[in-house]
Amino acid sequence: MKALRYYNRHDFRLEDVAEPDVGPDDVKIRVKWCGICGSDVHEFLAGPQMIPFDRPHPGTGRMAPIIGGHEFSGEVVDVGERVSRVGVGDRVTVRPTLPCYRCHYCRRGQHIQCVILGTIGASTDGAFAEFVTVPEDTVYELPPDVSFEAGAYVEPLACALHAVRRSGMVQGATAAVIGAGPIGLLTLQAALACGAEKVIVFETLERRREMAERLGACAALNPLDGNPGKEIARLTDGLRADPVFECAGKPAAMLLADQVSGRGATIVEVGVMMETCDFPFLNLFMREKSIIASQGYVDEFPTAIAYLASGRVKCDPEMTTARIALSNIMEEGFHTLAGAHGMEHCKILVTPEG
Ligand SMILES: [Zn+2]
Ligand SMILES: [Zn+2]
Repeated sequence: MKALRYYNRHDFRLEDVAEPDVGPDDVKIRVKWCGICGSDVHEFLAGPQMIPFDRPHPGTGRMAPIIGGHEFSGEVVDVGERVSRVGVGDRVTVRPTLPCYRCHYCRRGQHIQCVILGTIGASTDGAFAEFVTVPEDTVYELPPDVSFEAGAYVEPLACALHAVRRSGMVQGATAAVIGAGPIGLLTLQAALACGAEKVIVFETLERRREMAERLGACAALNPLDGNPGKEIARLTDGLRADPVFECAGKPAAMLLADQVSGRGATIVEVGVMMETCDFPFLNLFMREKSIIASQGYVDEFPTAIAYLASGRVKCDPEMTTARIALSNIMEEGFHTLAGAHGMEHCKILVTPEG
């Protein structure tokens, strides 16, 4: 079968590989759609970070080359002998995390902090391929009203829901989201679905501000225009936002989060910030704010699927800016997203069909 294997930085190869074997607890899926994640692009430009490169992954025993792709949907084509909950023909999505279920953190329910956490599409083969084989416990059925395209958004939506849950947001809250890329737009919608009264989005790119307004933001502001702190104070009777979700992963965005958050607010770091940040901790102290982080998800997949099924969260076609074939994934996918106009895109979905 055709698959995109991650070898190293700037070295992803579309290759012919054997179809994966089906172990007794495994489910084999014919991939329908798989989204390209920011982390995939990062792995291409600045990796290897997620891909085990110089020694095998402690959980999966695998190392590069590994087939990428972790935001996907598909149809079950085969199941192992011990699989009971999933059957051939089921329409499914997959939670890519592979916790050990035995370590200190797994036993406390913090699976994302598992000391040997593996990830499908990073530490074992993923879904930029015609077929992928995964353990049964990672498989979630898609209801008929969730399309395969929308099914590819369940994983990033679960990240957004985890961030909202971690924030402790209350009903009727005024929230802010900084950065309207895929995770920012999903966090905007997750906050509204979870009871925020209004969500104000800060984003420098006009096209992304327009998407944010279409997807429910009460205002989408360019933080480079005027004074964002005063602007949000004007929109909120001086109270500013609580919580604030930093989804850009940039030090400037964290400083903006300080400006637009209110007294006692919680700032949630959702973006992946590679640089260190010179944050004014005196403001944190004087206004009793909290900064917390949110990574991935634990058990948010069923809620994500339910919100897509009910239409409370809209992903496809609203957030899909290109649908491409696996055979063109480097040129039309990675090179496009890494190129000068990559930020004009939101989510690119890849199919091995056609
Ligand atoms: Zn992702
Ligand atoms: Zn564990």
